[in-house]
Amino acid sequence: MKTKILSLFLLAGLALSACTPAATPTEHAEETTGHAVHWTYEGEEGPEHWGDLAPDYATCGTGTSQSPIDLTGAAEQDFTNISFHYQPSEVKILNNGHTVQVNYDAGSYIEVDGQRYEVAQFHYHAPSEHAVDGKLYAAELHIVHKNAAEQLAVVGLLIEEGAENAAFTELLANLPAEESPETDAGFKIDATAFLPEVQTTFRYSGSLTTPPCSEGVSWFVMTSPIQLSADQIAAFEHVHEGNNRPVQPLNTRTLSEDTTP
Ligand SMILES: [Zn+2]
Repeated sequence: MKTKILSLFLLAGLALSACTPAATPTEHAEETTGHAVHWTYEGEEGPEHWGDLAPDYATCGTGTSQSPIDLTGAAEQDFTNISFHYQPSEVKILNNGHTVQVNYDAGSYIEVDGQRYEVAQFHYHAPSEHAVDGKLYAAELHIVHKNAAEQLAVVGLLIEEGAENAAFTELLANLPAEESPETDAGFKIDATAFLPEVQTTFRYSGSLTTPPCSEGVSWFVMTSPIQLSADQIAAFEHVHEGNNRPVQPLNTRTLSEDTTP
C-alpha cells in the first residue's frame, strides 16, 4: 500500500514536471498567466474535472457559455462575411503537450462586425471539437485572433478526409513529435491557403476549449469543411489524438448560421 501511494506521488510529480516549463505558452497563448495546473483529455484530470483542478479553472465547470458545442438548429441570418487579411508568416512552432501550435507573425488580421482581430496563432484538435448535427469531423484547425481590447475571435476549420491538401504539406512534415518550446521551422506559411472557398460561418459566443475555459470568445466555425488526405490527418493524429473537449450545452445562447456567400 505504502509503495502504491509513493508511486502515485512520483507519478503526480512527473506529470507536473512534464507540464511546468515556465515559458511554454498555453494552447491559447494570450491567456497565459504563468503555466498552471496540469490537465489532460482523459482520466482524473480530464475535461469533466477541469473545473475542480484549480481555482483559475472554475469556469470550466460552472460556465454557461462554454465551447465547443454541437452546431445544430442554427438560426439562419445574412451576415457580412469575415474579411480575411492574412499574410505569410514564419512558422514559429511548438508542441505544448496538448496540441501543436504555430505562433503567427504580427500584421495578419480579420475584420468582422466592425472589429479588427489580429492573428495570434493556430493549432489543431483531432478529432474535431465542434460537431455538426451530432457528428464530429476528423480534425479541426483553430485560428486564434485578438482585438485591441484583448477580446478573442477564433475561426474554426472543420477537416474531413478527402484530397491531399498542399497547403499543409510542409507544416505536417515539421510537427514537433514531443513537447517542445517554440522553434523557427525555417519556412513560411500563409493561413489564407487553409480557408475553404465558401466562407460562410456558424457564429456564437463561447469560450476557450482548454483550461481556464475563459468566456467571451467569438466563435466563427466555417460551414464548409476543408479536406486533408488520410495520410495528412494521420500525421496530425500521430502527434496529438483525442485532444478534443466534449461538446458543451448551448444553454440560452443563440447559434447563428450565415447562409449567404
Ligand atoms: Zn483550439
